[in-house]
Amino acid sequence: MRRVILATYVAMLLALAVSLGVIASPSGSSQEAKAYNTCNNFGYCGAHYYYSTVPWSDSTGWTGAKVTAMNLAGISWNYASPSLSLTKSTYCPCLANVGTVYQIGIVPGMTYTSFNPNDPYEVWFGPSYLNTFFTWYTDGTMDRDNAKADVRTVTLHEMGHWMYLNHDCGSHPSAVMCPDWTAKWSLTSDDINGMNALY
Ligand SMILES: [Zn+2]
Repeated sequence: MRRVILATYVAMLLALAVSLGVIASPSGSSQEAKAYNTCNNFGYCGAHYYYSTVPWSDSTGWTGAKVTAMNLAGISWNYASPSLSLTKSTYCPCLANVGTVYQIGIVPGMTYTSFNPNDPYEVWFGPSYLNTFFTWYTDGTMDRDNAKADVRTVTLHEMGHWMYLNHDCGSHPSAVMCPDWTAKWSLTSDDINGMNALY
């Protein structure tokens, strides 16, 4: 059983269609939450999971306070929309995962997203990677020049990309979905509006 699960997960990874980084600029709509709808590399905006629950897993191998920080990030998103719950699971393959990798350029975290090839509006899964080139903290430390980053801040942000939210620093610089090298442990109303626009 375990081997089947692992094989399935590897197959999912091999099927990964990469969609990276900032793809589209916010459109400046009167419904500001719409600005968070990422457009994918097929040109479709507003893609989202068709499930009501997104199970996620942790394969970082981290322990203690770092795991607690990740779990708290997941709990925040779990309550962002009444139509979608983000739930940590040990039964995987999961739709999303936090792992580590060395080295993904100069960014602390990165999220890959794959889509249903028959329906690019449907997000299939979105693993995130935290850069092991960085030194990771749980006290809110965010220091780009010295490659130090805070687990909860970065995880919370990358989880937003799982749900297919985009950056919007122009109109909402305090939002979790605006990465600006400050500690952010709580969703703002605009992060929540973005979730409710998609789910
Ligand atoms: Zn981002």
